[in-house]
Order: sequence, then structure tokens, then C-alpha cells
Amino acid sequence: MEKRIYLDNAATTKTAPEVVEAMLPYFTEHYGNPSSIYGFAAANKEVITGCREKIAGILGAKTEEIYFTAGGSESDNWALVAAAEAYAAKGKHIITSRIEHHAILHTCEYLEKRGYEVTYLDVDEAGFIDLEQLRAAIREDTILISIMFANNEIGTIQPVEQIGQIAHEHGVLFHTDGVQAFGQVPICVDEMHIDMLSASGHKFNGPKGIGFLYIRKGVKIRSFIHGGAQERKRRAGTENVPGIVGIGAAAERAARTMEERTAREREVRDYMISRIEKEIPYCRLNGDRTMRLPNNVNFSFRFVEGESLLIRLDRKGICASSGSACTSGSLDPSHVLLAIGLPHEIAHGSLRMTLSEETTKEDADYVVDALKEIIQIQREMSPLYEDFIKKEKSRS
Ligand SMILES: *Cc1c(COP(=O)(O)O)cnc(C)c1O
Repeated sequence: MEKRIYLDNAATTKTAPEVVEAMLPYFTEHYGNPSSIYGFAAANKEVITGCREKIAGILGAKTEEIYFTAGGSESDNWALVAAAEAYAAKGKHIITSRIEHHAILHTCEYLEKRGYEVTYLDVDEAGFIDLEQLRAAIREDTILISIMFANNEIGTIQPVEQIGQIAHEHGVLFHTDGVQAFGQVPICVDEMHIDMLSASGHKFNGPKGIGFLYIRKGVKIRSFIHGGAQERKRRAGTENVPGIVGIGAAAERAARTMEERTAREREVRDYMISRIEKEIPYCRLNGDRTMRLPNNVNFSFRFVEGESLLIRLDRKGICASSGSACTSGSLDPSHVLLAIGLPHEIAHGSLRMTLSEETTKEDADYVVDALKEIIQIQREMSPLYEDFIKKEKSRS
């Protein structure tokens, strides 16, 4: 087999074999529609409740507060649009940040076209929002604060508990996009004052096309898909039973393995970061050093073009990303890297590597060695780098 080192786990993860195994019988044997009356099919209703229970238990939520969706994007859309509509009588102001996933940002733009007003909070150079700025942004007519738990590009973990506290002090709903955080960081919806939380199966070794939205009991939110009575009449459509079984098994696995798995990832992450910083000049670590997802490594390299770096890494069997999967392919630098203050030309030379529990120190060595070699080649081809080195030399 060709060598492949997969370092794009923020884009998607491998479905764990035990998850696939749990799902299989729900395609071939237990294929009944959970809404049917006869026992063969109706048994699947209990199975779905069991999965809901598992996820609720991990979050410290109630079983009936978990709603299955088709993934992170749907959960984000639902939380924002439905809460905006349900609370429109109270006000039409929403607060979010500049570094959200496009599932949040584009939904906010949609709401702006429909008469809502959105405040986009700036972030500092590590990617944190400013809590004082948040407090100052809250108005009489603010109905919702939506701030992501952890950023998918630079890995920065926000002070979620404090954000929730501020929201609740002001009687404002708090939604968080927890897609990158779930399974990587312990989450407790009560302690953290979270009213709604989005998550997606394929980001924590579950299947694609299944996610959930946690909605705190008492939060007014309208149905997202109209039709049958599934998901307490809020999200109609025959349940994706294999997907639900898969996300339940993946959530259970993620919780069970979290401590050991993230400790290992952290170790390889920090090893990689320190080797890169020592051995590759003119680089910058993006995101915070400690409040950072355990598997995230994100660097900008000066005088390097990110896309061609990715292509050269691909030739060596290394799968990585320059920004988020949704923005790569376009030439605009990532909105997240611009928001943390990187100039365009430096943002263009950025590389995101997101590890898994399978990433070893040997993998990290192979990747850093490859990076050193490729970056050297790229810089030698760069007229800007040549000028820069000449200037450096004349200065010393
Ligand atoms: C991947 C991701 C999403 C979208 O999830 P899908 O399941 O792919 O729709 C949303 N938010 C964040 C932070 C993500 O990383």
C-alpha cells in the first residue's frame, strides 16, 4: 500500500470499526421504520432513545433535549434560524464572532437579509473573543449569542463557561458550535450555561450525514423540517437509524477514550510544534498554545504558497489542509487567519495538520522532515525570499 499519513481530522475522521460494526445490522436486519406499529420495527424506537440517552449523559443533558439532524451544518442552521424566528418579538439582534464556521456565518448573512442585525466580535491574535467586548455588545434586543466552542482551523478553545455566564446574566440564549469540541474536550451544558450545542458524527469517528442539536428544555424553537412527528415534531423525516446508532456508538467511544486519546494526541502535537519551531525558520504557530484542541497544529510559513505546499505534501502521502475544507479551492485566504491579524501573504502560506489517535511520533518525524525539504525548495524558488535573505545578510 502507498504511504498515507492522514492529518486532516478536522475535515473528517475515519469511522471507527466498532462504530461500523454497531451500524451494520441496522441496514440489513433491523431495517424497520421506527414509526411502524409492529414490534419488529417499533423496537428501533427504543434503540434511538438509547442513543439519545448516551449522548445526553455525556453532556449532562436530558434525553429529550437531544435532537438528531443530518450534521453540523444543519444543526447550526436550525439553531440560528429557528431561535431567531421564535424570539423575534423580543428583538432581532444576534452576536457571533468573525471566526465561526461558514455554517454560522452564512446563516447570519441570511438572517441579516431578513431584517436581523448581527454583531461580529473580533478576536485577538490567538483567536479569543474579548469578554468585555461581548458584554458591551449585548443590547435590550439581543436574543442570541452564538460563539463556537473550538475553532476548526486554529484550534483555539473559547472561554465557553464565561461566555455562557454573561449570556445568562443578560437573559440571552447561548448557542455554541461544538462540532470540533465534542469528543475532544469535556462538555457540561449546565455548568457551561449552554442552551444549544451543535455536533456532527463524522468529526468524532462516527458516520457522515448525522449530527445532533442539543436544545435546552424551555428554549422556544420552531420545527426545522415539517412533516411527520419524528424528533418531537421538530425535525420530521424517517430516522436515519444506522446513522443514529453510529453516532451513539461514536459518542460513547469518544467519551470512553477521551482522556487517553487526547493525552497521546497532545504529546505528538507538542512534539511536532516544537520540532517545526526549532527547525523551520520564519514560521508562526497560529492559535493559542494551551487553550488549543489536542490534535491541532496550524502554522504559517513566510515565503511559501499554501496550495503548492499541500500538493507537494500529497506527493509524499501526507494529507493536510491549508484552511478549512470549505474554503480551500478558492484563492481567498481563510477568514479565520485574517481575523487573527495575519496579512494576506502570510495567511496564504498556512498549513493545518489535525492529528488522530493513530498519529505516531514517527509519522510526525516523517512529516516534519518532508516539510523542511519542501519549504526549502519553495523558498529557493521565491524572489521575495531571495530579496529578504539579501537584506538580512547586508544588515548583519
Ligand atoms: C465540520 C464543521 C461543521 C459542519 O459539519 P458537517 O457535519 O460537515 O455539516 C460545522 N462547524 C464546525 C466547527 C466544523 O468543524
